[in-house]
Amino acid sequence: MPLTGGLSRQVVFTCTKRTILVFLHIQLIGYMRKVCTLAEVIIKDVEKVYPGGFQAVKGINLDIHDSEFIVLVGPSGCGKSTTLRMVAGLEEISGGSIYIGDRVVNDVPPKDRDIAMVFQNYALYPHMSVYKNMAFGLKLRGMNKKDIDERVRWASSILGLDTLLERKPKALSGGQRQRVAVGRAIVRQPAAFLFDEPLSNLDAKLRVETRAELKRLHHKLQTTTIYVTHDQEEAMTLGDRVVVMSEGLIQQVDAPLTVYERPVNRFVAGFLGTPPMNFIEGALEGNGGDVFFKGGGVSVKLSTAQAEQVAGHVGQKATMGLRPEGLFLHANEHANDEACTAELEVNVIEPLGDTMDMFLDTSEGDRLVARVKAEHIDLGSKVKMYVDISKVHIFEPGTYGKNISLVGAEEAVTA
Ligand code: ATP
Repeated sequence: MPLTGGLSRQVVFTCTKRTILVFLHIQLIGYMRKVCTLAEVIIKDVEKVYPGGFQAVKGINLDIHDSEFIVLVGPSGCGKSTTLRMVAGLEEISGGSIYIGDRVVNDVPPKDRDIAMVFQNYALYPHMSVYKNMAFGLKLRGMNKKDIDERVRWASSILGLDTLLERKPKALSGGQRQRVAVGRAIVRQPAAFLFDEPLSNLDAKLRVETRAELKRLHHKLQTTTIYVTHDQEEAMTLGDRVVVMSEGLIQQVDAPLTVYERPVNRFVAGFLGTPPMNFIEGALEGNGGDVFFKGGGVSVKLSTAQAEQVAGHVGQKATMGLRPEGLFLHANEHANDEACTAELEVNVIEPLGDTMDMFLDTSEGDRLVARVKAEHIDLGSKVKMYVDISKVHIFEPGTYGKNISLVGAEEAVTA
């Protein structure tokens, strides 16, 4: 029975091959976890006052867990790069302590902090090949040739650089250069990676691709990562937790979706989300057992839970925040006459494919954006919009007005 014998040999061979591959894969992951020191980074009461007296960081606290991917996000000048550079040791701290692993690194020079940093501008050596760029830091540390070779080939296979090792940086695309910069960081097998806007120089498509690669890489290596960006989409897609900063202070630290759905104040609510959350100034009014937000020609009846939460603020000024996806053109299970409807004038429509952004005016001239399912609507027409009350937030007045409608707000993390 040559046919059967051949088949069974083939089955045995296929099974063996698969077993070996699975075994090698497990070994590789184990090796990578073993060689990369895992570490916690703790930032305790850290301040930065630049010469001249400007206080860029105002006493922040942050516990970054072992193997966590944490993203510092905030508008330009909020102090995120300064914070990262203090962790790296590139900027002296003016107060507080930074721990990497179990040691305070306040006075430890950058090269001895067991971290590797990737910058926006790659900072590759132009006269060296990809191989040499990745090997250089290890050579400086006195590692022997064989170990260097092993590390460089390990990193290049993870990053898909095997065929580019002999090329010089000028013969690489922006994305490939950035991968070499990441390779140079991972060959070090440090306790933590620090990324400072590493994707800013790439075009939109490459940014999205490289972002996914970084996420895959972190999943493989599980190295503690601190990543700085001003791009809220990057922050939401990459971070295990997102740290929203403004004016040298941490505003909120939470999982991306929690920050989006349960912003602790108006600043955080307005910073995350595209299009951003709509805000209307007004006041809270009681009527029987119900509480209404009234302002800008819109009246919204809060849910029972929200009404209980804001009870102490009835009769006071407040700001209502409403996500664009919380407005609907037609009544549905989330939004109906019960909660609120508003008559709004259609100003501009931006078609996005299956959805569209509608720019609307209230009767008192407040402007709102609604992201709804695409359909034909005449510009200038008046439409009845339905509000999903679960997408409504009530803030105290002011840029950093506290979110007073968060049910279970005691659990929210603020700094
Ligand atoms: P960006 O996204 O624009 O880089 P950032 O949030 O990273 O912003 P930082 O670079 O940390 O901001 O700067 C925080 C503040 O400190 C800014 O107002 C900046 O002008 C100021 N700053 C930064 N470096 C210095 C310096 N060497 N001397 C004085 N002020 C500085």
